[in-house]
Amino acid sequence: MHASSGSVLVVHGGAYDIPLESHEAHVAGCRDGVEAGWAVLTSGGSALAAVEAAVRVLEENPTFDAGRGSFLNAAAQVELDAIIMDGRDLNVGAVAAVQHVAHPVTLARLLLTESEHAMLAGAGAELFAREHGLPICAPEELLTGRELERWKAAHATGKPQAWEPWGSQPHPSDTVGAVALDAAGNLAAATSTGGTFNKHPGRVGDSPLVGCGAYADNRTAAVSATGEGEALMKVVISKLVCDFIAQGMNAQEAGEAAIQILAERTPGEGGVIVLDRRGQIGIAHNTPYIAHAYVTSSGEIVTGIQAPASNRNQRSDDGL
Ligand code: ASP
Repeated sequence: MHASSGSVLVVHGGAYDIPLESHEAHVAGCRDGVEAGWAVLTSGGSALAAVEAAVRVLEENPTFDAGRGSFLNAAAQVELDAIIMDGRDLNVGAVAAVQHVAHPVTLARLLLTESEHAMLAGAGAELFAREHGLPICAPEELLTGRELERWKAAHATGKPQAWEPWGSQPHPSDTVGAVALDAAGNLAAATSTGGTFNKHPGRVGDSPLVGCGAYADNRTAAVSATGEGEALMKVVISKLVCDFIAQGMNAQEAGEAAIQILAERTPGEGGVIVLDRRGQIGIAHNTPYIAHAYVTSSGEIVTGIQAPASNRNQRSDDGL
């Protein structure tokens, strides 16, 4: 794999209590995602194209709660949210509660480039996909047996009680995201999710909300978040990280400071991946785990399920 001068890419595959037996699949999936995005960067592609490519691979992987394999809502349907943001001009494309699109991140990018709107939801988002020739899929194509079983087990004793997004039980959270810096010095971020298990139909979490599920600004950083959407959106976590960077913090400090605010001001848990304009990486979380992978400008791939101290304050080796 050839190094691409100054380029850096980071992906995540969710945070929270990722069950031990699926750690390997999460790490391998993150590696696949990062490899796909890196191939774009090393062939001269933009940060925007790289985060889309990385997230598409993660959406295809049924390990994650994004695209195929997503959690089911209370009506046993897959409803997907995604966002993509370009740090050059703050342009954003986001889609919410779409049911028939296998790659919502691509629909979000199409919205970014082909529409004056920043966000479309539900049937309108799917109409936009049709109008622009994006494949429409049957709901079954996004459904896995594992998720159907999870839903059936939860509903076996009658209607589950009022929706309890995270509750007291260990809860998988497998949203995916990517942040990239390209050789031209441009940043981009993308996040894609099936949302929380057993969510009310129509529920939209933090992921497609600008500044919450992701943010990218060439002046500061690119950030993708995962975790308890209802909490993450209250502190506008991805923009919060960028604001801390604007104040002079490094990528890791800014991620940790934002997670600290999340913990202080909400009962929520979550994680962020951060990539600043100099190529410095931060990975912060108050969940037990955050599955991630990154490539530095030397082409080295690093994967993990936690962000140990040794992963902190990583700098790209581009000498900036
Ligand atoms: N943040 C996502 C949501 O609340 C869930 C996740 O990150 O896994 O929809």
